Amino acid sequence: MWAETPARTIRKPRDYMSAPPGSNPTNNQVDAAFRDYYRCPEAFAAFTSAGKLSEDRGYFRLGPDIICYGRSSSGFRAERAAGELYDVEKDVVADGSGLRLPFNPSEIIANLRYERYTPNSNGREKAPMPTSILRKAYYLARPLLPVSVRKHLQRIHLHGWNNISFPRWPVDASVERTFEKLLTLLLRTQSMNRIPFIWFWPHGYPSCAIMTHDVETARGRDFCHQLMDLDDAYSVKSSFQIVPERRYSVSESFINAIWDRGFEVNVHDLNHDGHLVGDRRRFRQRAKRINQYARAYRAAGFRSAALYRTLDWWEDLDFAYDMSVPSVGHLEAQQGGCCSVTPFFVGHILELPVTAVQDYSLFYILRQFSIDLWVKQIDAISEQHGLLSFIVHPDYLIHRQAQDTYIRLLAHLARLREEGRIWIALPQQVNDWWRLRARMRLVYTRTGWAIEGEGQERARIAYASLKGDRLVYSLEPACQARADTLNEFAKSLS
Ligand SMILES: [Zn+2]
Repeated sequence: MWAETPARTIRKPRDYMSAPPGSNPTNNQVDAAFRDYYRCPEAFAAFTSAGKLSEDRGYFRLGPDIICYGRSSSGFRAERAAGELYDVEKDVVADGSGLRLPFNPSEIIANLRYERYTPNSNGREKAPMPTSILRKAYYLARPLLPVSVRKHLQRIHLHGWNNISFPRWPVDASVERTFEKLLTLLLRTQSMNRIPFIWFWPHGYPSCAIMTHDVETARGRDFCHQLMDLDDAYSVKSSFQIVPERRYSVSESFINAIWDRGFEVNVHDLNHDGHLVGDRRRFRQRAKRINQYARAYRAAGFRSAALYRTLDWWEDLDFAYDMSVPSVGHLEAQQGGCCSVTPFFVGHILELPVTAVQDYSLFYILRQFSIDLWVKQIDAISEQHGLLSFIVHPDYLIHRQAQDTYIRLLAHLARLREEGRIWIALPQQVNDWWRLRARMRLVYTRTGWAIEGEGQERARIAYASLKGDRLVYSLEPACQARADTLNEFAKSLS
């Protein structure tokens, strides 16, 4: 077992973990979120507010199929996402040098990312939590209950999930689609015919994928080595989230063995009892212990049990990144979702959203032992150049049918990588990259646009332009060899 003081630490210094300017949840500067997303020069994010914003918050549309939540200065704001919504697009005014918007995009984006549209924050619609008795029965006893009983309890809780209209199942990328829409509207003003930005992923990869394994029980822990063998067979390095207390014993040799094989160790909750969030004082006490385990395990990443989260409290967690927020949480105990498929900052922590359905939900709630839904999500997330992030538990993979399904997923991901379509990385590598990119700058030089900052040799300059009505991204190739495959990404958004 672990001593209070870690034997060795290779944690990065705190200043490395500090958030870049403009990435704070409270920074509501009109252009802040847009510039952070694209990393484009300030002059190109030419937005201003069109008028005084409403007192009330609610749902409205930006064009026919993008749902926004927050304040606006035109039309009305609805209490529910389903039903008639006011479309603010017609109130966007091009004033020669930029756009005057009837809403603040940074605020609208923050409302989605930090789930301020959910009942927890505004008291609307159905409460996201299961009733306390059901929650206790299900989450407190979860490792002890047979799967058949758990499945039954979950189906009761999740009843009607497929009627939830917002966020959109099985992938919600409202955040990215809002940014694309703003970019399209900017280009339509024709004050500029293309806008340069720093491409999302290193070496011009169209998308990125991470594989993560939450270890729930002693049986799962004992299966980890076999799971690493499975992952290695497809050259996929993954992260293992370890529950530090109560569930099973965690030896130093177990932690070291994961690191030594080139995999990553993260902290999974404290004791997985379903009570991490709920009480602020208790959370603070638990966060202290969690932070100690992070140092002992040399972990840079965190995930809460059952994706329970109160992001405002995450400031107590001493981690570089977190993976506790689903982009659409219909099948989770805490519903909602960040409506994002790309990383974003929550204070000093980088959030890597969970963008694909969890193995447990796929196998035991949806009763599917095929990878069809995963492939559907991969396609939709790739379309947004987002992060494909998977949670697959060693505990469930002991079962042969589940294991076969997982192997098909690994094979599919390996094929996409071979085709140059995804970068498969460890979560900590994604964290490192996204932080480097957040500090890079695009500057105009005598020979054209150039990227400045640490890591710029891995970064690519991209351009956004319109082809007819379609938004198109093109990459400035670093070398001609990659240019053929990664040159241009046409977006269907108009
Ligand atoms: Zn778990």
